Amino acid sequence: MDADIVCVGFGPATAGFLATLSRKLINPDGTPAVESTVAPGLPPQVLCYERADDLGFGVSGVVTRARALRTSFPDIDKAGIPMAAPVGEERVLYLLDPVGASRRSRTLRLADQFIHACRWALPFEREALHLPWTPGFLHKKGGLVLSLGQLLQWAGAQVQNTGAVQIWPGTPVAQALIENGKVAGVRLLDQGVSRQGAPAEGFTPGLDVHAALTVVGDGPVGPIGRQLDDLFGWPEKHHARDWAVGMKFVVDLPEGTPLQPGTVLHTFGYPEPEIFGFFYVHPDRVASLGIFVPSWFDSPVRTAYRYLQHWMMHPYLWHFLKGAKLRSWGAKTLGESGRRGEPRLAGDGYARIGEGSGSTNVLTGSGVDEAWATGAQLAEAVLELLKAKKPFTQENLQAAYVQRRRGSWVEREARAAEKSRDGFQRGVVTGLLGMALAGLSGGRLALPGRPLRPWQRIPSLEDYYRRRIPEGEARQIRDDCYARGVSAHAALMERAGWPAIPCDGQLLVSHQDALLMGGKVQAPHGYADHVAFVFPNLCQRCGTKLCVEICSGQAITPGANGVPNFDREKCVHCGACLWNCASASPENPERMAADFRAGAGGLHSAEN
Ligand SMILES: Cc1cc2nc3c(=O)[nH]c(=O)nc-3n(C[C@H](O)[C@H](O)[C@H](O)COP(=O)(O)OP(=O)(O)OC[C@H]3O[C@@H](n4cnc5c(N)ncnc54)[C@H](O)[C@@H]3O)c2cc1C
Ligand code: SF4
Ligand code: SF4
Repeated sequence: MDADIVCVGFGPATAGFLATLSRKLINPDGTPAVESTVAPGLPPQVLCYERADDLGFGVSGVVTRARALRTSFPDIDKAGIPMAAPVGEERVLYLLDPVGASRRSRTLRLADQFIHACRWALPFEREALHLPWTPGFLHKKGGLVLSLGQLLQWAGAQVQNTGAVQIWPGTPVAQALIENGKVAGVRLLDQGVSRQGAPAEGFTPGLDVHAALTVVGDGPVGPIGRQLDDLFGWPEKHHARDWAVGMKFVVDLPEGTPLQPGTVLHTFGYPEPEIFGFFYVHPDRVASLGIFVPSWFDSPVRTAYRYLQHWMMHPYLWHFLKGAKLRSWGAKTLGESGRRGEPRLAGDGYARIGEGSGSTNVLTGSGVDEAWATGAQLAEAVLELLKAKKPFTQENLQAAYVQRRRGSWVEREARAAEKSRDGFQRGVVTGLLGMALAGLSGGRLALPGRPLRPWQRIPSLEDYYRRRIPEGEARQIRDDCYARGVSAHAALMERAGWPAIPCDGQLLVSHQDALLMGGKVQAPHGYADHVAFVFPNLCQRCGTKLCVEICSGQAITPGANGVPNFDREKCVHCGACLWNCASASPENPERMAADFRAGAGGLHSAEN
């Protein structure tokens, strides 16, 4: 099949691209503003393929300044997007450890003791210290609290109402088509195949869609972006080695909650110092809340779900959450390399936008508006090239798109943020100081740190628990769990002092119940497994099994012969298994023994 432009993924970046492009392809009298090369007489044929079952099945906070969103939709504040609220009160809180199980450095323990001793003189409440002042770079004043799902469903409807573009959800793109060293379109995923991808009953090979321009907006862990990185290489000194998995709950707050719509809380310090939290209040007593578990958290039992439960039970938050009910749940990887994770932005026949193009601002914790802005910038560039009848070559895209981006606020702010989080590679206190320095100096000052891959930084189970669990016992606990085919983090954490979770059946629920109640995971038949253990010999030798412990959906479980099992029915497509592997790929030092490929299904909820 032939098209003029084909897009991969419908996240904020592609939404920004299509929202800007679609309005300018057709004149008010219905005639094409520019003509298609594949369907003469018609406007350009623009197709967008989204992997998830429907539009807006992504996962994100979201609080945003909404600068780019308002440029595309000046009336967005009055558009009646469900779950949207203007940003109101913003608070940053340092959470102390109320249970004594958190892994805190001596400096942090001293700080905690000092805060406790002086609490009568400090803005201290329920084991939390309100930061008396929120630095300007963290503020979202004048912005919006949104649900990414609701925003994208609304934006998708606006875009499709123009009649100028088609968006196809439930249609994963398997790979970019490469012809003569150029990107020539995309190939969709094969259907009617076995779990290993072999043709089976009803086999339908993935359709080839040829297009003059392929727009890659497949997010931080997108397989098409990675294919292009492997093929065309990275710009010097750039790499994507910093990540976080963000896990969130959408909840009904109890009746009579004092929290007003638009309230924004950010937390740090607990359940582990490395874990940051967010709590955003929507209208009608609904809230989005969750945590980020970063790649620089040196734990072999990194688990977002269990830590999210402890975070919710912190006295400061529990005060608001007691009696709350889970509505929806999800997890997703956040690319935390920022501008340093910027790949080649354009080449012959393709352009990259959004988080996979390094747009997320790691200082301000803002990705939606930046992704949207890069999409809108590409759309302006594409219109310019179409009107000038110039082909989508690397040179033309560089001049029209990349230069536009370089001159924008996205680039300016990304440069200021570029080194802001380096200090976290050396510890939380250094990280926080580095962020403050970079934020207050506009990026001129920062504390250095070198991002390490998991196998360079994750300690063994014994080393990690050395002070908490007697030698040999940690491994025994893990072996017992693995013999039962379950992950070990819950048992290990409880042995190390974390209290058991008092499940209440409505908010504090087991991981499996969360999958049923809030995840609404879909796994359509006839697709191959999208998580694969490509070097089983490495898995057999792997003592860390980071992939099992981090898995957001308990979809990866210990396997009988040392190679983990993967259950597609539980996978929420968070992408964490891509960067949580304890072994380097022998073929490519930027890849690991687990692969996260194009796949169908995942979360089935537009509230996240
Ligand atoms: C828990 C969490 C909280 C966050 N909070 C905030 C916040 O408060 N404020 C903020 O500004 N940002 C926040 N972010 C970041 C923000 O969500 C991202 O920066 C933003 O969504 C990036 O947009 P994108 O369009 O580049 O990518 P994505 O949103 O990742 O969209 C990419 C799309 O491509 C699709 N796709 C991937 N592969 C394929 C394929 N092979 N075929 C077809 N489709 C494919 C995906 O399904 C997805 O829909 C948060 C992120 C997380 C995870
Ligand atoms: S995928 Fe990586 S972390 Fe998981 S078992 Fe294999 S080598 Fe270990
Ligand atoms: S298997 Fe699925 S749910 Fe588990 S870490 Fe990988 S992408 Fe996330």
